[in-house]
Amino acid sequence: MNFVFNPAPVVSVPVLGSELRFPVHRIYCVGRNYEEHAKEMGFSGREPPFFFMKPADAVIVVNAGETGSMPYPTLTKNLHHEIELVVAIGSGGKNIKAVDAHKHIFGYAVGLDMTRRDLQNEMKKQGRPWCIGKGFDHSAPIGPITSVAAAGDIGSAEIYLQVNGQDRQRSQISKLIWNIAETIEHLSAAWELKAGDLIYTGTPEGVAAVVAGDTMTGGVAGLQAITVKVG
Ligand code: MN
Repeated sequence: MNFVFNPAPVVSVPVLGSELRFPVHRIYCVGRNYEEHAKEMGFSGREPPFFFMKPADAVIVVNAGETGSMPYPTLTKNLHHEIELVVAIGSGGKNIKAVDAHKHIFGYAVGLDMTRRDLQNEMKKQGRPWCIGKGFDHSAPIGPITSVAAAGDIGSAEIYLQVNGQDRQRSQISKLIWNIAETIEHLSAAWELKAGDLIYTGTPEGVAAVVAGDTMTGGVAGLQAITVKVG
């Protein structure tokens, strides 16, 4: 087949302990999925799950032991970090029941749902889409994927983020309002999940701004931590 120009390369994430890479299809994100974060955003913490998306090529791959680099984005003066557990889907499906969700998970990674908070807040106020606040270029740093078998009991793992060595976010995956299986059930009722989908499962409380020169280090117990420098 001949294209009118060369297709963009496939976006992919390394798999820890393997030469194989995980090709990315879509990036789904869950909004306000920890009660204390929902409260700091001005909500009750009790609402049905809701979703937004980032383009697959918003990914910044951060290899194990390396420091990733995220350019400070345009148009914002309030770039926020959101540390998140990322679920990597290995086999797709529609209307997946929570009880069957584990069969569709390839592995897990640590990700950052970077957010232009000032733009997101303005869009919320005007009832407009969040794309400009959430789905911008380089907005989805991610570390290597750990297979389910190697990841251990992720449902009870600690999640944390430090900026320049100081704690900003620290919580437990067990505090997810909608857990991993329930999230997959809800998502797959709205979209057909495909192999290669990434699900950013939401962030705990403590979101705040970073500026050029800051270094973020985040992790989830049992997974490869990531370090990203801004600017
Ligand atoms: Mn988020």
